[in-house]
Amino acid sequence: MSAHSDVLSGGASESAVDFDALIVGAGFAGIRTLYELRQIGLTARVLETGSDVGGTWYWNRYPGARTDSEAWVYAFCFSKDLLNEWSWSERYPSQPEVERYLRHVVDKFDLRKDMQFNTHVASAVFDESTDTWVVTSDSGATYRTQYLITGLGHSSHPYRPPFPGLDGFSGEWYQSARWPKEEVDFRGKRVALVGTGATGVQLVPAIADQAEHLTVFQRTPNWVLPARNHTLDEETWAEIRADYDAIWQKVFSQNFALPYDSAHRVASDVTPREQQDILERGYRIGHFQFLFETFDDVLVDEKTNELVCEFLRGKIRQTVKDPATAELLCPRYPLLAKRPPLGTLYYESFNRDNVTLVDVSEKPLEDVVPDGLRTADAEYPVDVIVFATGFDAVTGSYHTLDIVGRDGAHLMDTWKDGPRTNLGAMVDGFPNLFMVDGPHVPFANIPAVVDRSVRWIGRTLTEMRDKAHTVIEPTPDAVEKWTNLMSELLQGTLLAKGASVHAWFLGGNIPGKPIVAMNYHGGANNYFATLDEEIDADYPGFTRR
Ligand code: NAP
Repeated sequence: MSAHSDVLSGGASESAVDFDALIVGAGFAGIRTLYELRQIGLTARVLETGSDVGGTWYWNRYPGARTDSEAWVYAFCFSKDLLNEWSWSERYPSQPEVERYLRHVVDKFDLRKDMQFNTHVASAVFDESTDTWVVTSDSGATYRTQYLITGLGHSSHPYRPPFPGLDGFSGEWYQSARWPKEEVDFRGKRVALVGTGATGVQLVPAIADQAEHLTVFQRTPNWVLPARNHTLDEETWAEIRADYDAIWQKVFSQNFALPYDSAHRVASDVTPREQQDILERGYRIGHFQFLFETFDDVLVDEKTNELVCEFLRGKIRQTVKDPATAELLCPRYPLLAKRPPLGTLYYESFNRDNVTLVDVSEKPLEDVVPDGLRTADAEYPVDVIVFATGFDAVTGSYHTLDIVGRDGAHLMDTWKDGPRTNLGAMVDGFPNLFMVDGPHVPFANIPAVVDRSVRWIGRTLTEMRDKAHTVIEPTPDAVEKWTNLMSELLQGTLLAKGASVHAWFLGGNIPGKPIVAMNYHGGANNYFATLDEEIDADYPGFTRR
């Protein structure tokens, strides 16, 4: 235990805590947190359910899985050395490459020695007599820690609708978020894919390339933006590296923590002809630049949003040869009411003879029969079913462990009507529990959000040490205000329309889950500034002792 530990544990004896901090999860959040705590001289241990690092990138190893943030900003920015030595091979790195990167990071900074794999945390209980957390794993091992830090991931608790009959299915079935490490061979097989979110959109071309036939079951079409993936050569890397400071500065100044400029215009500033030219240009560049560098009012003005939607419908109709299929693929709700996926050869896949689209919006999938899937009026015999049915997102992962705070309060009871936090970082009644990339943080480029959240935790713990504080907790008033702010900010954007189309970021994809704003929709840049302001103002939303 470090020399600081005694101070951090309030002068308690060294045996009082096993670690200054216990971090749950070894994805981007857990890795970044462990690095930060090392930097400030705290002892920490990461406990991770999987057998290696990666988090979402460990579990989501389905064919076609890749990032849809650009490689050079879907990364850690805390080390120049790391930024300069790592060259991603493509604009959007594939899952194996992200996994390799995360392994490289933990090895480079010698983080692995403080990580424990194959260890699922079952519970964490706050012991009020010592102001410490007692963490228990599935196997019954217990650890006592001053600080508990969760990096559980917001897309990590898979959701599969309870289709009756699955146990009796005679073929193979897979869930995208629990994909096996061994390769799945689709050759010569009839495959059903359920789900057309960001995951399904990546799976379609990958499965279609192999399978004898792919039937895609779509309940709600998505706005699939062109990814325009490409390889990155050394010349491009030299340019990116020379520009890294400016790139990251932009990331931390932009609403979605992406290195883009604002368009500095709204749609009504230009003529209809210019509008189309601007959209064409954005479409050629692809990625979320299409959203953020065309018109500044796409997310807030219904008319502009519909203009962009109609442009995209035109692209779908141009790409998909069968008009009936094209119409089924055209969404009728605003862009960004659901998180738009990026696609490569997604719409084109529906021109293949071996791909069929089945609309289950009116006649839902009812059950699984021994040789396939069934709707109210048809049966679809298949050999393999792939469920890409999403996640109990943002808060779902908090169901996998029982967090018990002061007075025996269970976190998930406290959150039964939706998450409640201050700054997306802490919850009243749960002292010394910090969350990284949990609820109420920006809906934005995750590694950047993780970086700023962890930096805030690092600065907060350092301050506490300097002032000999051992316990921190947000005030109920600050939690109430922050939680209310989440809904107010949501209502200012068209993302609020997600309630009608099962948007996961509102909880709408999980039957019975309260529909509330689970993220901060006020701009990542503003969130980062708010974190700094809280420190500068000496933590008005928290009590410390
Ligand atoms: P998702 O967006 O929630 O999509 C789940 C899909 O399953 C939807 O199409 C949904 O239809 C469908 N579904 C659910 N229940 C169904 C039922 N009973 N019958 C028929 N269809 C059903 O989940 P996801 O695709 O895994 O993506 C979730 C998020 O994870 C993304 O938005 C993104 O943030 C992240 N992600 C990122 C990447 C990346 O960075 N490259 C890749 C994958 C995922 P409805 O739309 O009608 O509900």
